[in-house]
Parts: sequence; C-alpha cells; structure tokens
Amino acid sequence: MARRVIDASGDADFCHLAGFAYELAGEHEPVQSLTTTFRMSNVELDEYERAGGKTMLARKMQEAVSSGRHPLPRKEGSAHEMNAQKCISTVAVKVAGLSALNADELTKAEVEGRRQAFVYEDFFRDDVPGYQNANIIGLSHQIGVRETRRVYGEHRLTKEECLAGLLPDDRIFLCGAPIEDHRHDANGADETYWEYIPGSGVYGVPYGTIVPKGSRSVWVVGRCFSATHDAHASCRSMAQTMSMGQAAGLAAVQSLRNDEAANCLNVNQLQQGLRDLGAILDIPDTVADTSRHGWKNNSLVPTERDKQQIPALT
Ligand SMILES: Cc1cc2nc3c(=O)[nH]c(=O)nc-3n(C[C@H](O)[C@H](O)[C@H](O)COP(=O)(O)OP(=O)(O)OC[C@H]3O[C@@H](n4cnc5c(N)ncnc54)[C@H](O)[C@@H]3O)c2cc1C
Repeated sequence: MARRVIDASGDADFCHLAGFAYELAGEHEPVQSLTTTFRMSNVELDEYERAGGKTMLARKMQEAVSSGRHPLPRKEGSAHEMNAQKCISTVAVKVAGLSALNADELTKAEVEGRRQAFVYEDFFRDDVPGYQNANIIGLSHQIGVRETRRVYGEHRLTKEECLAGLLPDDRIFLCGAPIEDHRHDANGADETYWEYIPGSGVYGVPYGTIVPKGSRSVWVVGRCFSATHDAHASCRSMAQTMSMGQAAGLAAVQSLRNDEAANCLNVNQLQQGLRDLGAILDIPDTVADTSRHGWKNNSLVPTERDKQQIPALT
C-alpha cells in the first residue's frame, strides 16, 4: 500500500518478500561471525593502561589460548572504555556456522554467545591487570549480526572501488572505515582481516548502492545495501548506515514531490539537499582528532541551515 518504502531491516526482509535479487552472505565468501557484546564494571583502567593496554591484552589472549588456560573462541577481542566510570564494553565473542535468518539457529547463536561471554569474564578476571574485581553487568539484548542478505542494487560497491579511494559524481556520503572482516576461521592467524583505504583514507559511495536493481519506489539501507562481501566489510558500520538512511529519506521525499522514480532520481538535487543538511560529500581540509578524548577537539562547523535555526551558532 505504501507509495515509497525504505528497507532498513538489516536482513533486507522487505526486499526479500518483494522479490528483489540479493546475495546471501556465505554464498561466495565466508559469512562474518556473530557477536554478543558485553559490559563489565569495576575495571581499573589506569592499571590496565600501565600494564600495556591493548597490546598487553592481545598478548594475554594469545597466551590464554596457547596455554589452554581459557578456551577463548577468538584471540583478537577488543575492550572499549565507556562513558560510565570504570566500565568497558567488549567485542570478543565469536559465533560461526549459524544463520541469523533461521529462528532456531539464531536461538542457538544467542545461547552460545552468552556462554562465551562468561568464558571471557573468567579470562579477564584471572589474567588481565585491572580486571581482578570486574564483573559482567550486561549483555547485548540480542546477538550482533554482521551480514545476512546483501541486495543487488543499481550499483554494487566493490573492494576495488573502496581501495582506489574513488569519489564518484553521484556519491551520497563518504566512508573512511577500513575493511574489517570478522572471518569465521578461528584457527587462522588473521582472525579479523583488516585493510585500510590508501591515500586520503576515504571513498565516496554511489547513490545506486541504496537502490535495488530496477526499483522505482524502494530503497535499501544499512547492512543489507548493495555491496560485495569485502566492500560491505568496510561500509557497514554505524556512521555509514546512518548516512544511507539520511540519503534514502531525502530521496524518498524528492521522489514523491517531483514524481521521480528511485532509479531515475535527479542525484544532483539530492546531493544539494544533503549538503544543506550538513552532509560531508567532499574530503575535509582538516583531519579529525581520533585520539582517546580527541573528539572534543573537533570543531563543529555549523551549516547555513543550522545558523538560521540556532542563531547562537552564528
Ligand atoms: C558485534 C558488532 C560490533 C560492531 N561494532 C561496530 C563499531 O564499533 N562501530 C560501528 O560503526 N559499527 C559497528 N558494528 C556494525 C554496525 O553496528 C552495524 O553494521 C549497523 O548497526 C547495521 O545497521 P542496520 O540499521 O543496517 O541494521 P541493524 O542495526 O540490524 O538494525 C535493523 C533494525 O531493524 C529492525 N527491524 C527489522 N525488521 C523490522 C520490521 N519488520 N519492522 C520494524 N523493525 C524491524 C530490527 O529490529 C533492527 O533494530 C558492529 C556490529 C556488530 C554486530
């Protein structure tokens, strides 16, 4: 009944039901693993940093597995400081070989993910300086799913395009994230495969990646957008998926107002609308400070629209 639809379901459920073509994760390359994240409190972060921080943690994980002390499913887990004092959020659990599109398998993954979280809790408390008195205080309410369906769009983003740092004329946002592929082979040295974007470290993402092939009234955004497995591994993160949503929302409005089909949209007009909203479509002159508290140093440059709406910004 809807005149326009944006599929932001993660699994491309709408596109699947509507008959658009897609690639199932795992069809060609190993599907990325599933992860239950968990939070721990009472972590002495200064002690942890003094003992070597991230580098020390990686070494401890290797030692725990090779000595047989703790059967960690993944040796490259990461722990991230939270806003709440002495709390960390951890991405370490690794569940593979179960499909997030099948309710029974997803249930099994949920159970296994939670089991693994407590294996890591033991490891942290026993082996990692600063964690002696730490406890799990929360699990992600659902296991995190990295990829399931990827719709075939008017354009399909490829690894080669990402690594070439292309800025196509019809770009709707920029992506500065590396390829981060959480492979399911827990025995390999490269558990998580990383590849950084050379040069500027940034590439532009074409409008066609959010338009299912042949679509006149449907857009697809988020982790089910149109990309190959490895390009998706770079472009599936939160900031990018939000940019896709912003572009698709604006495109849907433009499509209704001008009676334009999704696959024949005036992309110049869409880009102007995005720029007016403050979207960054060109590589900025200044490099963002990504150090521990560096985000505080990054100045917010108000757009003309911001200035009109919030006079204090002028
Ligand atoms: C463990 C893990 C760690 C990650 N770490 C990072 C990180 O550090 N930084 C980063 O940027 N990215 C990270 N990512 C990637 C990022 O979180 C995801 O790729 C991104 O959130 C995908 O967004 P999405 O909106 O496409 O899908 P989802 O986040 O899966 O959202 C889809 C939503 O649609 C809802 N939905 C589905 N069907 C319907 C329906 N019929 N009606 C209504 N609602 C529906 C679902 O309930 C869900 O809330 C991580 C991902 C995982 C799994």
